[in-house]
Amino acid sequence: MSDVIELYENCKLCPKACGVNRLDGDTGFCGMSFNPSAASAVLHNGEEPPLVGEKGSGAVFFSGCTLGCPFCQNEQISSGKIGSELSEAKLVDIFLNLQKNGAANINLVTATQFTPSVISAVKSARNLGLSIPIMWNTSGYERPETIELLSDIIDIWLPDLKTLDSLVAGRLMNAPEYPDFAPAAIVQMVKSLEKNAGTLIENDIMKRGIIFRHLVMPGEMDSTRTVLKWFSENLKDNAMLSLMVQYTPVNEAGRQIAPDGYSMSDEEYNKLIDWLEEFDIEEGFLQEPEAASSDWIPDFKRQNPFPEKFSTPIWHWDDCVK
Ligand code: SF4
Repeated sequence: MSDVIELYENCKLCPKACGVNRLDGDTGFCGMSFNPSAASAVLHNGEEPPLVGEKGSGAVFFSGCTLGCPFCQNEQISSGKIGSELSEAKLVDIFLNLQKNGAANINLVTATQFTPSVISAVKSARNLGLSIPIMWNTSGYERPETIELLSDIIDIWLPDLKTLDSLVAGRLMNAPEYPDFAPAAIVQMVKSLEKNAGTLIENDIMKRGIIFRHLVMPGEMDSTRTVLKWFSENLKDNAMLSLMVQYTPVNEAGRQIAPDGYSMSDEEYNKLIDWLEEFDIEEGFLQEPEAASSDWIPDFKRQNPFPEKFSTPIWHWDDCVK
């Protein structure tokens, strides 16, 4: 057994630090065994432009999650209800197939609970000719130690920073400890990037770097202001900001956050613009309020979880489609 796989024995891969032996069949908060499980691999056009290229980002949607946000848009897979377990050989095959079909990168979506397996699979795939960048697409709820472990294989970091307010984190994610971990993990991503010679963008496509995401939550503008200030003070020289305003409720819990749906007001949107100026944030992406759409909410029961114009399926948990 490789050193890295042994980390499943006393699992502390994420801040939940369950300490269970997943190699022995025990499961912790994420509910996942040590075999990686995924629901879908697609060429995805919905990420930020430098991550998409001509054919799309090669997204692999893993099952399970280390957070338990009640309003999650990916609840079918974050709850572990949908997905199939993959051998390392199959995961390598999916990576190589995404590359063969023109993916700009391998986009590992919510893979923290499988960090050791993913590291091992990426190394094997590199030996078999995988050459596109590897991207870590995360909620930000990470232990800095896990990020350090990943720094050998990850080229692009795509973290959220949902909030720096523990009351908001408790209310929205049942994880008041979130602010104790996410900023430190993101700082560790910056160190990793610096170790690997910094941001690299070629022909408008990111090869190395950090895109820092923040979704404005209904009624939580003060929390957003704090996040933007933190970004300005800690990250703006090393990362691009992606500020999203398209909160779309998908279930009862989501509707409780925004009972009448959510459409950002002009006043709120103008506030965001003022704060970007105040904090001197120029690099990045700002969603238009009209971008809010339920089209982006995936249904992982379908071969293509997204509408055709948004993604091309490469692999599905229920069937091999290409
Ligand atoms: S990855 Fe899963 S088992 Fe391991 S610490 Fe996190 S929630 Fe617990």
